[in-house]
Amino acid sequence: MSELHKFIFDGKPVRGMLVRLTDAWQDILARRAANRDTGAYPQAVSELLGEMAAAGVLMQGNIKFNGALVLQIFGDGPVKVAVAEVQPDFALRVTATLTSAVDENAGLPDMVNPGGQGRCAITLDPKDRLPGQQPYQGVVSLVDEQGQSLNQLNEVLEQYMRQSEQLDTVLVLAADDKVAAGLLIQRLPVEGEGNLAGTAQPSAQAQDIEQAFEHIAILSRSLKREELLELDPMTILHRLFWEEPVRLLESFKDDTAPRFACSCSRERVSRMIQSLGQDEAQSILDEQGKIDVGCDFCGAHYVFDAVDVAQTFNPAATSGDSSASLH
Ligand SMILES: [Zn+2]
Repeated sequence: MSELHKFIFDGKPVRGMLVRLTDAWQDILARRAANRDTGAYPQAVSELLGEMAAAGVLMQGNIKFNGALVLQIFGDGPVKVAVAEVQPDFALRVTATLTSAVDENAGLPDMVNPGGQGRCAITLDPKDRLPGQQPYQGVVSLVDEQGQSLNQLNEVLEQYMRQSEQLDTVLVLAADDKVAAGLLIQRLPVEGEGNLAGTAQPSAQAQDIEQAFEHIAILSRSLKREELLELDPMTILHRLFWEEPVRLLESFKDDTAPRFACSCSRERVSRMIQSLGQDEAQSILDEQGKIDVGCDFCGAHYVFDAVDVAQTFNPAATSGDSSASLH
């Protein structure tokens, strides 16, 4: 079962989260493998998406945002787009669009940034968005401050967190074909004495706090990929932080565990067909006899024949509902 755990370090301004996606992740991969339009993800893409899924859950858990958190990479290589979307209840879905074959050993730059134009976007889309209200979006490039391509997703997201939230963050991510997992450690903002910002001469207390975070960060970075993938979360926390005052705050498992869920629906596809306009919809019908829309996230197919399309554009006429009125 998938699980997410939140914890703090008692007396230290550091918090953390650990996520382990198992059934949710396997569900996502199985659906993609069964999708006849796309086939299974190449291994390198699958690992990137797994890391994005784990990171998306950690970031959603970190901000408690009432709406979807969407992590997207827009690449200029064989992976055109990679998406992980996580709802406030940790329902999640991912997908990727490939324009050409991806080498088995391809790294992040090979997949999404060979030309240096790749971007990573983090979008927060409020659940009850007002008309005209834009979702919040932050965008970062896939290079470091010296312009060098970043080799790992965690480096991209750590840079984003530093720039957007001004919070030092350590992310360790890993994924294979069974598990997608991640550890997030973040320094909490400290008021007054302990706050280093703007202090010419940091107090002893501030230095202690600085060292406390640095020490926990070093321990976190020592976590190996295999450990993150193979060990259960409590074992990881005990092994990494056995000398630290870790206190578990909240766990999401069983009923509240992160899980795969897709928000696609026939109604949404119907609205999409409406937005094409009647002429365009008709020309697809003339050409193909039906409009067949597949969902990239879950593999579902929505098929609209001529009658369905007519109903989409004129629901009252074909349903015989005389109570519906046009305005
Ligand atoms: Zn779907």
